Amino acid sequence: MNESEKEEKPLDFIRSTVKQDQEDGKNEGRVHTRFPPEPNGYLHLGHAKSICLNFGIAEEFNGLCNLRLDDTNPVAEKTEYAQAIMDDLRWLGFDWEERLFHASDYFGQLHDWAVQLIQDHKAFVCDLTFEEMRELRGNLIEPGKESPFRDRTVEENLDLFQQMKEGAFDEGSKTLRAKIDMSSPNLNLRDPVLYRILDQEHPRTGSVWKIYPSYDFAHGQSDSIEGITHSLCTLEFEHHRPLYDWFCENLGIHHPQQIEFARLNLNYTVMSKRKMLRLVQEGHVHGWDDPRMPTLSGMRRRGFTAQAIKNFCERVGLAKRENVIEIELLEYCLRDDLNKKAVRRLGVLNPLKITIENYPSGQTEEVDAINNPEDEDAGTRKIPFSREIFIDRNDFMEDPPKKYFRLAPGKEVRLKYAFYITCKEVVKDENSEVSELICTYDPESRGGDSPDGRKVKGTIQWVDARSAVACKVNLYDRLFSNPNPEDGEEGKDFVDCLNPDSLEIVESALVEPSVQDFEVGEPMQLERVGYFCIDSDQPEDGSLVLNRSVAMRDSWAKKAKK
Ligand code: ATP
Ligand code: MG
Repeated sequence: MNESEKEEKPLDFIRSTVKQDQEDGKNEGRVHTRFPPEPNGYLHLGHAKSICLNFGIAEEFNGLCNLRLDDTNPVAEKTEYAQAIMDDLRWLGFDWEERLFHASDYFGQLHDWAVQLIQDHKAFVCDLTFEEMRELRGNLIEPGKESPFRDRTVEENLDLFQQMKEGAFDEGSKTLRAKIDMSSPNLNLRDPVLYRILDQEHPRTGSVWKIYPSYDFAHGQSDSIEGITHSLCTLEFEHHRPLYDWFCENLGIHHPQQIEFARLNLNYTVMSKRKMLRLVQEGHVHGWDDPRMPTLSGMRRRGFTAQAIKNFCERVGLAKRENVIEIELLEYCLRDDLNKKAVRRLGVLNPLKITIENYPSGQTEEVDAINNPEDEDAGTRKIPFSREIFIDRNDFMEDPPKKYFRLAPGKEVRLKYAFYITCKEVVKDENSEVSELICTYDPESRGGDSPDGRKVKGTIQWVDARSAVACKVNLYDRLFSNPNPEDGEEGKDFVDCLNPDSLEIVESALVEPSVQDFEVGEPMQLERVGYFCIDSDQPEDGSLVLNRSVAMRDSWAKKAKK
């Protein structure tokens, strides 16, 4: 998208609000957003949407965006995750400068605000267990019942809260709760929990704290402390907004505006850290960065570019209602970006040997190949050619249908960048499988040009037998065979919807020699086969492993169906 197109595009509902606020001089015209992941897993494509939104708005409105690790639950959080979050953000190309914060930085302030609420008769220590609390909470039809501990005096509450903090009580035996309204139609306002007792080491605060704030008590106040102006979050927090507002108002602190948008959902995959963790822990995938995972680390390893992901997030746009995006759009965005960036190489996944009987044995030559027709600056390269070559088995048919334009007995095809060849003889092994083709070539057709105007419709890729490099290739398909694994089929767990063929390993593909010079993750197009990159996990023996990022549009399969 170029600049003028960008300007013409109508603003989405969040950007319209931000723009209006800025024009009205709200927050002195400041725009300050934040991206607040919990370090309890790796970032996924859904997070990318939130990242592009928060950092994007800051940039567009001349504002700032913070990175805040929302580390209020030491049970599930790890430094490994925190590090991975920062790596992924940097890879996507976003910079939080010196503004890396942690919710745990605010534990002291949050505690003092809890004390303030107690003093204002707005919070109390409750001895109900979580189970009992749930029972008294009521539901959407019935109002809740007040806790028998709700009328404790300020002194008693302050004393008990102090003891909670010092570790005098067992986990689960007491909580600090806000005193709001047990009959509110909004369940979140029915005396929500502010603090719970947890005897757990925190990765950053160690064993200093025996009590930890709830998400609701920490999140809005963290926004407030950082001077956030627009707190953008996903729709499931819509019903938490009155509570967000209640805390800011009752504490008398800076009040950011929470605005909700629909989560990104993609078909044929899951978009929740909890589910991804299960896939990893139960061994359905080979880790968080398995190239089939919708994590940013998995997508990077598969060969996604940061730009393709950003373009995708922009195309998806912002909605106020839940929706599911089709995975084809993601694949389209990747192909579209790689088509411009990826240099072309030749490779065959399923090699079939050809001996060119009229090519002098012992001779080699080099043909010129274009590196990227979409990018003149990418130049050309030389590829070796000699008497023995390999083509892809799929480009040969012994008994072809009428309009078959690739190789068949007696037929002529163009070897990309090289010569025309004609199939003279089919050699078979003891199992009657085709093991080799004997062909002739036309020395006058060098470079793939017709020497006498005769038409050759088919052009296929090939590699030279002497110089080709053997490699293993991972071909990825959708992780789930059900378009909607999150909901699953009736009575089925989402792992039951996994696609058993999501990874196909080609053990001995052949590629032209220069593929060895690529860096891990650097994109290439193997012509007619798809986009690939070198896997980050290379075997110790120095052999090569490629990942297919995405297939080419399978144009010939469509033609074959006609
Ligand atoms: P998950 O359900 O995968 O655990 P989460 O919302 O609990 O996701 P957080 O680490 O709390 O994960 O998310 C950080 C930010 O990213 C939040 O502001 C959250 O709203 C946003 N986010 C998470 N998932 C998505 C998604 N699928 N689409 C858009 N934004 C998302
Ligand atoms: Mg969460």
